[in-house]
Amino acid sequence: MTDATNDTNDRQSVIARLAEIVGTEHVLTSPELVAPYVTDWSRRFTGPCMAVVRPASTKEVADVMSACAQAGVPILPQGGNTGLVGGGVPATRPGPLGPPVIVSLRRLADISPVDELSGQLTAGAGALLGDVQRHAAAAGWMYGVDLAARDSASIGGTVATNAGGIHVIAHGMTRAQLVGIEAVLPDGSVVSHLEGLLKDNTGYDLAALLCGSEGTLGIITAVRLRLHRPPGRTSVALIGSPSYASALEVMSSATSPILAAEVIDETGMDLAGSVAGLPWPLAERWPLVVLLELIDDGDGSGFEALLDDDADAVVALDAAERARLWEYRERQSEAFSSLGIVHKMDVSVPLASLARCADELRSVVDGFSDVTVFGVFGHLADGNIHVEIAGPAADDTRVDHAILACVAGYGGSISAEHGVGRAKAGELHLCRATSEIAAMRAIKAALDPAGLMNPGVLFES
Ligand SMILES: Cc1cc2nc3c(=O)[nH]c(=O)nc-3n(C[C@H](O)[C@H](O)[C@H](O)COP(=O)(O)OP(=O)(O)OC[C@H]3O[C@@H](n4cnc5c(N)ncnc54)[C@H](O)[C@@H]3O)c2cc1C
Repeated sequence: MTDATNDTNDRQSVIARLAEIVGTEHVLTSPELVAPYVTDWSRRFTGPCMAVVRPASTKEVADVMSACAQAGVPILPQGGNTGLVGGGVPATRPGPLGPPVIVSLRRLADISPVDELSGQLTAGAGALLGDVQRHAAAAGWMYGVDLAARDSASIGGTVATNAGGIHVIAHGMTRAQLVGIEAVLPDGSVVSHLEGLLKDNTGYDLAALLCGSEGTLGIITAVRLRLHRPPGRTSVALIGSPSYASALEVMSSATSPILAAEVIDETGMDLAGSVAGLPWPLAERWPLVVLLELIDDGDGSGFEALLDDDADAVVALDAAERARLWEYRERQSEAFSSLGIVHKMDVSVPLASLARCADELRSVVDGFSDVTVFGVFGHLADGNIHVEIAGPAADDTRVDHAILACVAGYGGSISAEHGVGRAKAGELHLCRATSEIAAMRAIKAALDPAGLMNPGVLFES
């Protein structure tokens, strides 16, 4: 028998074993059925898989993991496939272990009742972020993480990427909401720590470790989340700003608590306007528009104290108006994606350097004559800007490298919230020391000695 025949037989026996575990209808192999799982939201990243498997329980996930481990087949966990760094879809060219089995967690979507005493709930990894938010709200609570992909992103994916979003200034990143985890490790063993103890100093914090691990250490099957009481009524404003320095000054002068502080540049405003049919909302045009949401009884009093008479601003007090102003920000990713393949750089810098770094980024990008559109939007309060570039081909990463190097030069991060994925694995050294990368690799090797979990993500190989 030839090697090719052996490979086909091995592949068929793995697929047969997976079908025994989850049922034939939950093992997808035909190109039409796997298509939505192998190309990411941005359409920039795509690659082949051996199969997509859709387990319905932690036990099935563990059995799938053991079957793949026994056959030496790589595993790629996937939630809502809204990640923007290529970590949730296969590599274009499979590595030495061949194409992965994609394990879709979407069927693990149960959400427990809210525990009123602790203000916590347990959610299956496949539950949508939006469903967790609505579930918490129905019980009089609020989940602290929110982002525009809320009705597609899974809670497991948000934990695997330590997602940030629009409320980080008020509630922190996903890791700050996490009080317990259940996960299947590469050897098929299940770690389950879902009691939700706020105080528990019994060794390494596996929940915190798996949070942000981007599917490289194991498969998250359920999470215990802390909730918050809703903050009370808020007002929202869009405020015209001539520069980042001035935008930061406005934000930092707020005396009411800030629920969100976002920024959109003129390019992003115009694109959202044309995609969503929204008019320019201010009296004049500005290089930047700041969106602030203040907790101020919903009467705009927070902005009365903040804005002087010359300010070019629009303030929304009722829910419909607030949603209308938020639309300029919520439609940003979609607006840039309407241009075709867009290079998305999700970076952060210390607030004190943001204005200087943003200026330098503009000159860096000016050096690339093939860039047709350069726009920026993001989470101002977190020093986190999303740099969007159209023009260069999907696999031409010269401008990406230049932008990430510039950000690193300001002591910033090459990934503020989306993760490293495949897109930035080669640049990890820009913001992590050799000793840190060695420690991370040692953790990976201890938990995943055969290197089966999401190879090529986070580390180059
Ligand atoms: C319109 C839009 C707006 C966005 N806004 C934000 C934002 O404001 N802030 C932000 O942080 N992100 C944002 N994102 C990015 C994305 O929504 C987040 O990264 C989200 O956390 C991904 O969740 P997912 O379920 O889609 O994960 P996927 O894309 O399916 O996977 C992402 C990564 O997590 C791993 N993974 C997924 N599920 C599991 C699991 N159960 N166990 C182990 N590993 C797993 C995957 O292998 C992959 O590496 C946005 C995306 C879009 C499209």
